[in-house]
Amino acid sequence: MEYTEKTLKTEDIYNGNIIKVQKQTVSLPNGKEATRDIVLHPGASVVIPINEKGELYLVKQFRKPLDITTLELPAGKLDSAEEDPKICAERELMEETGLRAGKIEHLISIHTTPGFCNEVIHMYTATELTQGEACADEDEFLDVEKIHVSELVDMILSHKITDAKTIIGILMAEKIIKGNK
Ligand SMILES: [Mg+2]
Repeated sequence: MEYTEKTLKTEDIYNGNIIKVQKQTVSLPNGKEATRDIVLHPGASVVIPINEKGELYLVKQFRKPLDITTLELPAGKLDSAEEDPKICAERELMEETGLRAGKIEHLISIHTTPGFCNEVIHMYTATELTQGEACADEDEFLDVEKIHVSELVDMILSHKITDAKTIIGILMAEKIIKGNK
């Protein structure tokens, strides 16, 4: 079966600092037309910093779209579509937690919301950690927390952690840490 939708018309709706919004008119496999609301995002990197005790480093920060404080793995968007996601991962780890990783490795990449957004998040594990100075962006206010992976899994199950990339990262970390035993 042919699933492809062909773009017939693109309307730019909004051009923001982080995202662009388009309305696309497409032709469907059955020949009919439909419109798609699409959010364009430059992509991001997320880091799972794991120490030798099986603890992960997370950041606590206020998230305006939800109007709540969340606990998330360190992450940030790529400076441009061309930026190497590994460089972005190293930078965000250092800026948000002050940690430097002796080893930083790509694990998986995830599409957060394929229904309306092209955002891809590249996930890295960071090990052989050493502590330095954090230097978050001017408009970023956050605290770093170090929590054991098994406690983090409980925090997912008790709805204390709801951020999707963080949930995936914690479950991947649990698998990695268990596998190393
Ligand atoms: Mg961030």
